[in-house]
Amino acid sequence: MTLSFDPNSISLPMGHFIGGRLVPAEAVIDMHRPSDGKAYAGCPLADAALVDQAVETAREALDRSNWGGGRPRERTKALQRWADLIEAEAETLARLEALSSTRPVGHLVAGDIAVTAEQIRFFAEFADKEGGDLVPTDDANLGMIMTEPYGVVGAITPWNFPLSMAGWKLGPALAAGNAVVLKPSEMTPFSTLYLAELSVRAGLPAGLVNVVLGDGPITGTAITGHPGISKVSFTGSTAAGAAIMTNIARTGVKPMTLELGGKSPQLVFADADLDLAAGAIAASILSNAGQACICGSRLIVEAKVADALVAALVARLAAVRPGPTWEETTDYSPVISERQIARMDGIIRAAIDGGAECLTGGGRLDREGYFYAPTLISGVTATSPAVLEEIFGPVLTIQTFEDEEEALSLADHPSYGLAAGLFTRDLSRAIRLTRRLQAGTVWVNRYGRSRDHILPTGGYKQSGIGKDLGREAYHANRKSKSVLISL
Ligand code: NAD
Repeated sequence: MTLSFDPNSISLPMGHFIGGRLVPAEAVIDMHRPSDGKAYAGCPLADAALVDQAVETAREALDRSNWGGGRPRERTKALQRWADLIEAEAETLARLEALSSTRPVGHLVAGDIAVTAEQIRFFAEFADKEGGDLVPTDDANLGMIMTEPYGVVGAITPWNFPLSMAGWKLGPALAAGNAVVLKPSEMTPFSTLYLAELSVRAGLPAGLVNVVLGDGPITGTAITGHPGISKVSFTGSTAAGAAIMTNIARTGVKPMTLELGGKSPQLVFADADLDLAAGAIAASILSNAGQACICGSRLIVEAKVADALVAALVARLAAVRPGPTWEETTDYSPVISERQIARMDGIIRAAIDGGAECLTGGGRLDREGYFYAPTLISGVTATSPAVLEEIFGPVLTIQTFEDEEEALSLADHPSYGLAAGLFTRDLSRAIRLTRRLQAGTVWVNRYGRSRDHILPTGGYKQSGIGKDLGREAYHANRKSKSVLISL
């Protein structure tokens, strides 16, 4: 059986998901399919009153179900049923997502959706295993740290991996005993609506998972500033993260986790396995057409092996199989919008005007939709926008170095610090540099996450505050209370 489908055959849920049911709403924000550029739907826009309703519903669901106060194992079991249902409904979820996003349907079923279910199971297991702590005190006292859910968590996700990002937020927040009001991106909202519907079918209390659709300025701002939202969990650009911090400061202080942008370096030393490095670097640039926060978009290579590595990369980038996201064989994604194509063109043109050379790619592919050729740019300087700005597309810049110090200095971005890759066969060098790289994640002789969800992810510098995944994400969804009892 094929996963391929006719994009015009999909009926879209049109509304918000509040209190366990779809609340119909009219389409407001125009939506275009990245794979063929056709206008196909509109995204509803929740205003402050509707966000109020969702927050109130979430609060009532918590009170009614005692989700955060009942037996933790019941939370685990309910979340595991939800994960089972996500796997069983993978094809429907994948179609809803592939239609509007840049994720190919085959990648969704084998990757994003399988991983989302896995991560929900991973966090479900924390519910009855991670608690507080008894702490050392003198004999006259008993000291302990109790932990409690926050209540209603406000979550906001980006368009690039809609279901995985929803899973990152919902898994730990729900396992930790909270309810959630989630706003997916206005460009890719439909699969998240269905994910929420599946939670109710799996037996999670209605009202625990609420999804409101809309944009950042109206709906997002209403969520982050809402007095009934006790914690904010955001993934998106650094600019939106900063706007959220401002809004939270303006409307009342509350904890927040911010997973933001990146411009991650990949350092390749002459002693590295160049074939392995070329494979990992190309995969990072080609995966979702470079539209990933962790995209390793800056190659920093030891000068004496630069030509050999670049030749291996050019060959790999030329072998892509672009296609509509609704075809199972598609391996190379479109970019999200026409605007994004214009933006990439602008940055690449500026680099070339500044003396850089485009070794391959450098423009859109000759086919319908928003497809951009994988692009390699050499001869860039450290101050070029191509090196400094998060391009969020299939564009790799190349810089060369002579020694470790120069490599580290080129790797150090003035504002981003999300991830870094390091390719070398020298173990001492790997450890030495790992210690000095200013990034929340360092991959050595590989690039990209594994399915070891215990490893947290998050940025240094302006790439974020706090962590998703891992124990940290679970604990970030519970507040701690210090208790001292005089005996
Ligand atoms: P974006 O910041 O434009 O939007 C992300 C979400 O925030 C959307 O739902 C949007 O509607 C909402 N939003 C925008 N402004 C807001 C505001 N002022 N208040 C509240 N909500 C607001 O980002 P995007 O284009 O959807 O996604 C791409 C960005 O996300 C890239 O910068 C990428 O690096 C980042 N990202 C980071 C991670 C990570 O783990 N660090 C993961 C995925 C994506």
